[in-house]
Parts: sequence; structure tokens; C-alpha cells
Amino acid sequence: MTNYDAIIIGAGQAGPSLARRLAGSGMKVAIVERDRFGGTCVNTGCTPTKTLVASAYAVHTARRGADFGFSTGGDVTVDMKRVKARKDHVVGLSNQAIERSLTSLENGRVYRGHARFVSPHEVEVSGEILTAERIFINVGGRAATPPVSGLDSVAYLTNSSMVDLDVLPRHLLVVGGSYIGLEFGQMYRRFGSQVTIAEMGPRLIAREDEDVSAAVAAFLARDGVDLRLNAKCISISQRDGEIVMGLDCEQGAPEVRGSHLLVATGRRPNTDDLGLDRAGVRQDKRGYIEVDDELRTNVPGIWALGDCNGRGAFTHTAYNDGEIVAANLLDGDRRRLSDRIPAYALYTDPPLGRAGMTEAEVRRSGRRALFGRIAMEDVSRAFEKGETDGFMKVLVDAESKEILGASFLGTSGDEAIHCVLDTMYARAPYTVLQRAVHIHPTVAEFIPTILGDLAPL
Ligand SMILES: Cc1cc2nc3c(=O)[nH]c(=O)nc-3n(C[C@H](O)[C@H](O)[C@H](O)COP(=O)(O)OP(=O)(O)OC[C@H]3O[C@@H](n4cnc5c(N)ncnc54)[C@H](O)[C@@H]3O)c2cc1C
Repeated sequence: MTNYDAIIIGAGQAGPSLARRLAGSGMKVAIVERDRFGGTCVNTGCTPTKTLVASAYAVHTARRGADFGFSTGGDVTVDMKRVKARKDHVVGLSNQAIERSLTSLENGRVYRGHARFVSPHEVEVSGEILTAERIFINVGGRAATPPVSGLDSVAYLTNSSMVDLDVLPRHLLVVGGSYIGLEFGQMYRRFGSQVTIAEMGPRLIAREDEDVSAAVAAFLARDGVDLRLNAKCISISQRDGEIVMGLDCEQGAPEVRGSHLLVATGRRPNTDDLGLDRAGVRQDKRGYIEVDDELRTNVPGIWALGDCNGRGAFTHTAYNDGEIVAANLLDGDRRRLSDRIPAYALYTDPPLGRAGMTEAEVRRSGRRALFGRIAMEDVSRAFEKGETDGFMKVLVDAESKEILGASFLGTSGDEAIHCVLDTMYARAPYTVLQRAVHIHPTVAEFIPTILGDLAPL
């Protein structure tokens, strides 16, 4: 039995930085990782997908050569082995940097293996028992698979196996028209695959406003992605060497055949084989660990951070969880989960940058609000770049003048949204941002323009 001041289970996006903070404060820290350092984000999530999106964007731009006044002298073809090699290189840089920083951590020791609780303060890893007064769970999540008849009879792909493909699918079938399905769907269409995305709901990315869903659907369709909405995947089978997706739908063919199948229907937490019952840690019905505003579980001395607590599903939220815990434990700074403003991006091309409430949420809240919107066609930087899809819209509280939320769907929308986000964190009235002089020509220079022309919602 080895005793530590702190044990961190999982070296994903919250664990490594928290380990550095705790060890830096003089605590003796054990870090347990069963797979690859950096977790989902670095190995099978953000880093590989955004690297692949960059390849797909380059391919797309090359095909649009005529729009920009050049010719490639023939068809643009994609070598998926080289695309994957580039992705592997980029992933390797992050993954190895995290591994190096943890294995060389003063006061830290890395254990490689699967950790399970034996009791509230004891964790077993590969037959060894580690004990600590403080245990931090950062186990992340994995792809959830829907109960579709026949799914297990085919070699389907998830985000993990998808980022390791080094061949071009002839026809990629995607189940799920949300963030992960759309990013993969568009990139593979651009690499040259035929792509069909089946979404059981009436629109894509149902959490977003209807105008956002419609605009995303329009540019994906223009790229040649076949979108099947109101089409629930009810069966999967293998026939004549092809994968057959059976759909419950009122319009379109009830079967689509493809060469590869990606299941992108959500995530589930890695909490099912963690011995949480032996530690007495409470979970909700979906397996997420329940935490309070400081990420504490119901068991004193045990915290849960990142995707496994269900309070965020992003790298920046996981990282922020670690910051909140470190601030409370080490700095006497009472940072809170509830101080966090929802923000994220969808990395289609163009991307969607989101902050705060959607328009639908503001309408449902019943408050008096102001609204402003501009089409990317009217944004000079966008038409200079030849990328005019999308729009930017901002919602403001009519009483407090604070910004309630924004959706920026358009070129650089993932960057420009931070002007809004920072103003929201400052709790400044929108007029501060409206009067700021932004650099020309940028997408962000139109935010003051939008705010100067607000109308009642
Ligand atoms: C395809 C895809 C694209 C994404 N793109 C983005 C994006 O662009 N931006 C963004 O912000 N987010 C994105 N995400 C989400 C992001 O990857 C996650 O929110 C983030 O990785 C969560 O970090 P985490 O630390 O909670 O968990 P993880 O990163 O999943 O890390 C958990 C770690 O715990 C380890 N582990 C699990 N159980 C045990 C155990 N019992 N013992 C020992 N180790 C264990 C795992 O091996 C893993 O290394 C994407 C996700 C996917 C799937």
C-alpha cells in the first residue's frame, strides 16, 4: 500500500494541469492513466479532428482554385495515408508533451493501468493499492452506441477508430447529425467520399437555433453531403459486401448502402468500471458523477472533473474544472462552476462560435431582449476571403444591457465570438463592445456594427 496526498485518475484535460498545481504546492501526487496521455481531446477528439478539418479545408480551397485565380493543373486527389500521418504527427506532439511533463513531475508518480476504487480513500491499479485523503476523478467519456438492430454485426466506426482511418471510404454512412457527425461528414465529403448523414430529428444540431441548423444544412448540402432528416436509423446489416442502413422515415429511400459506418450519437461517461459503489460516490441515471459548485462529490475528499461529471463536454470546461478545484484548494479563491458561461464551437467550415444563450432560450426566458444580426455576405473580410456563408447574431438584455448570448456562424466565427464572451465575463454593458474600435478588415470589426443596430426581439 502506497500513500499519497492526492490521486488523480485519468490524464485527460483536467488531470495533468491539476497534477502540476498540486505537486507544485508540495503534495505527493499519483497520476493514473490507462491509455494515452491527453485523453479524448488529444488522441481521438479535438486535436485529430481539427487537424483533419485543416486538411479537408486545404483540399476544398485547392478545388476552388478557379475562384481565386489559379489552377492545380488537374484533379485534386487526396492521399489518406499522408493525411493521417500529418494528423499522427500533430497528435504526437501534444500527447508526448503531456506524457513528458507528467513523468518528469517533481513530487509526482505516474501509474499506467486501470484504476478502481476499493474504498473511499483507496484505489487499486494493477494489483497495487494507492491511498490518499484527496482523490480526483478525471475519467472522461467514450462514444455511446444506440440500440440499433444489427449494429454489432458490422465493423462500425466511432470517433476513436475514425481518426485512425488511412483509406478513403467510398461511401461513409453517419448516424447522428450533431457536432461530431457533422465535422466528420463534411471533412470526408471534401476528401472525396460520398457521405450520407442520418438524423432522426427534423433538423441538424437540434440544440442550436433553427436558423443556425438551416444554414449549416445548406452549406453541407452544397458540399454534396446527403442529409437525411427525420430519418431514424433502425437497423444495420451487411449485404453483398456493403453496409446497409435501414431508416424509419417518411421521405426518401428506407435503405442506404455504404462502405463504412460512423456512429456519432453522443457520449457516455467512463464511470461504469470505476468501483464508485465501493467509494459511495453518487451518480445520476446516465452514470455522470454528481458534483457541487466546487466539483466535490457527495463523498468528502473525492472530486470529479471534466466530462465524467456531466457539467461540461469540452476541453475548456474540463480544464476550467481543474482551475476551480485548484483555486479553492490551494489559493483560497472561491471560484465556482456556476461562474462559467457556456461557450463552444462547431468546426464545420465555416465554423460556429457560440456563447451564452441561444435566441430560442432567450425567447423562452420571457425577458425583454434586444437582437442584432448581420449576414456574412455583408462582412467585408468574409467576401474578401470568398467565404460568405452564415451570419452573426447577438442577444442583449434590454434592462441590464448585458449580452445574453451570441451565435457566430461564419469564417473566423470561432475566434470572433471571444469578443462577446469576454464582455459577458466582464459583465460590462454591450455599449463597451459597441464603442470599441476593432481592426479593419476583420470579422470582429462588425460586432460593434451589429450592436449599433439592435432592435427589440
Ligand atoms: C470527435 C470529438 C471531437 C471533439 N472536439 C472538441 C473540440 O473541438 N473542442 C472541445 O473543447 N472539445 C472537443 N471534444 C470534447 C473533448 O475531447 C472532451 O470534452 C475532453 O477530452 C474531456 O476531457 P476529460 O479530461 O474530461 O476526459 P478525457 O479527455 O476523455 O480523459 C479521460 C482520461 O481518463 C482515462 N481513464 C478513464 N478511465 C480510467 C481509469 N479507470 N483508470 C485510469 N485512467 C482512466 C482515459 O484513458 C483518458 O485518458 C471532442 C470530442 C470528440 C469525441
